[in-house]
Amino acid sequence: MQSLETIPKSEYILVVDDTPHNLHLLITMLTRRGYRSHGVNDSLIATSVVQHEKPDLVLLDINMPNFNGFEVCQQLKASDSTCEIPVIFISARDEVLDKVQAFKVGGVDYITKPFQIAEVVARIENQLTLRRLQRQLQEQNEKLKQEINSRIIAETLLQEANEKLGRLVNLDGLTQLANRRCFDEYLDQEWQRLAREQSPLSLIMCDIDFFKNYNDTYGHIAGDDCLRKVSLLIRQSIRRPADLAARYGGEEFVLVLPNTETAGALAIAESIKKGLSELALPHEDSLVSEFVTLSMGVTSMIPKVDSLPSILLTAADYALYRAKELGRNQTYQIG
Ligand code: GH3
Ligand code: MG
Ligand code: MG
Repeated sequence: MQSLETIPKSEYILVVDDTPHNLHLLITMLTRRGYRSHGVNDSLIATSVVQHEKPDLVLLDINMPNFNGFEVCQQLKASDSTCEIPVIFISARDEVLDKVQAFKVGGVDYITKPFQIAEVVARIENQLTLRRLQRQLQEQNEKLKQEINSRIIAETLLQEANEKLGRLVNLDGLTQLANRRCFDEYLDQEWQRLAREQSPLSLIMCDIDFFKNYNDTYGHIAGDDCLRKVSLLIRQSIRRPADLAARYGGEEFVLVLPNTETAGALAIAESIKKGLSELALPHEDSLVSEFVTLSMGVTSMIPKVDSLPSILLTAADYALYRAKELGRNQTYQIG
């Protein structure tokens, strides 16, 4: 059976000592205990050996010709690639000042010669264990960083997807105006807010005249295109952030104008009418014009807390119906 001491260990130890006898003793002792080790008796080449071989620990003598151990240690600590390698000083110098200096230059431990083999091994094992734990901690930190990064990316993607979903839920696909669902919610919300504020809320209901004929004449795709152009015009007619333009259904649109009186709503209706006449979209099968026209119903009221916004909607709908009845291509106002 293999004794515990000779079980091969993965760590690699560099021993730097100019005394051949010490070097031989330490290397023999380390090899016997299963460590991979290498001895260097010249402090001048010790630094470059460490740079190339990256040992897991350096056992470093202090009194050496050329550079002494403190200087070698200082050089190792000054380089990013070797600064984390633990250095244990092993020296015949037993002065407190030497020990203090050893720790000052970055040494992790100090062994005095003549040394006890068991003590050297215990101190080496101690440092290697610390180093192993430190590496584990670094790896866990790295993993944690990666997890945090992945989570941040996932959260950003989720947020983007949610925003997209929010837009899809509230937007009409063809016209990019707010859809009916969004309009219903917004009207409710503004009705209640303005009831508390006792400020007017206006609606404009618009309907393209003879749009069935338009489709029949130019085809459904051209009809869609016409709806998009009229929608853009309607969207551009509103200026305040609180105003909302929505597709109410088919070729009908509705504008919600909070804190706006009849006069303001009529001005917007007028600007839509003007813009549409400037667009001059041909409609040869309309019975009221040679271009696409709109009929509009405008209504305005100060909401009451105990009433529903359907009153306003019904009134706007009725105003639109009257505009149609009176000959189309015009605006009718109630309230
Ligand atoms: P009126 O002047 O009384 O409003 O007549 P009208 O023909 O515009 O109204 P009617 O309600 O009879 O017809 C509406 C037409 O709008 C019929 C329908 O095919 C068309 N329409 C509704 N939605 C769309 C759409 O998304 N794209 C296209 N191309 N046409 C649509
Ligand atoms: Mg119509
Ligand atoms: Mg209609």
